[in-house]
Amino acid sequence: MFVETKNESIKKQPIKIYANNKESYFEKEIIPIRIIPTGETEEKLIGNVILLQNITPYKELDFAKTNFIATISHELKTPLSSIQLSVELLGKKQLGTLNEEQISLVESIKEDATRLLKITGELLNLSQLESGAIELSVAPCTPYEIVQYAIEANQKMASQKNIHLNIHLPENLPEVMADKDRTAWVLSNLISNAIRYSYDNSIVEIKVQQINNNFQFSVQDFGIGIAPQYINKIFDRYFRIPGNRNEGTGLGLSICKEFMEAQGGSIHVISDFGSGSTFWFILPVVNTNI
Ligand code: ADP
Repeated sequence: MFVETKNESIKKQPIKIYANNKESYFEKEIIPIRIIPTGETEEKLIGNVILLQNITPYKELDFAKTNFIATISHELKTPLSSIQLSVELLGKKQLGTLNEEQISLVESIKEDATRLLKITGELLNLSQLESGAIELSVAPCTPYEIVQYAIEANQKMASQKNIHLNIHLPENLPEVMADKDRTAWVLSNLISNAIRYSYDNSIVEIKVQQINNNFQFSVQDFGIGIAPQYINKIFDRYFRIPGNRNEGTGLGLSICKEFMEAQGGSIHVISDFGSGSTFWFILPVVNTNI
């Protein structure tokens, strides 16, 4: 069984310098200089060289890319939602009955629109995280609301693979301190992954537990599992396990991680390659004693 280790790579932030009405970015590297003085055998540290590399042109390109992604995903969202709604109406037969071939065409348009909306949603989230434009609204809410949204969003995909979503949600739980929409998005993403990387006719366990002053939301699947050499990489942006035949962007888990950490929570995984995985995140219980 393999557990992801704590992310030791604390993000190296570039140094920002404002001069001549312009922001410039530098990456700093400290290189220790050691010498063996003539006639001696021991190495001595005589100082450090501080190397500043100007990365402003790369930063500017990065901003342009983030802006581009934000604009495109924002502009695509509205027409895609309207396509999805229209196709839904077509499927409901209020506008006339469809023959079998038409029904199957409508179904596949609906699935494609949903897939495109998922991708644009991920890209929009990514660009907001990158530009720092994300505003979390952390407030007390019930774990029930979060679970309900995530289940509803995935029920259809689960039925298509005949996967049973087993929900363990104790009654009378206190409230959780969370950004409700973002947390529901994270849970939904974990459930969607659990379904996508499970075999047909299996089970996905969704559990909410109170452990002291925290809530643990967990999603366990009995699917393909994750090989140990990839377990520390799956939360990286755009990372997808080689050979993965499911469609996807490799962005979902990295966004989950950033959403959780931005609220002071954390996200974890444990996996048994070939037998399944459990992902869980931790958020604080609302303290009612204040
Ligand atoms: P994707 O859109 O590719 O699913 P994610 O960021 O959600 O992107 O996941 C990154 C990669 O981690 C996936 O491509 C997949 O290889 C692996 N992965 C995620 N969840 C699971 C899971 N429940 N079981 C097995 N592999 C998983």
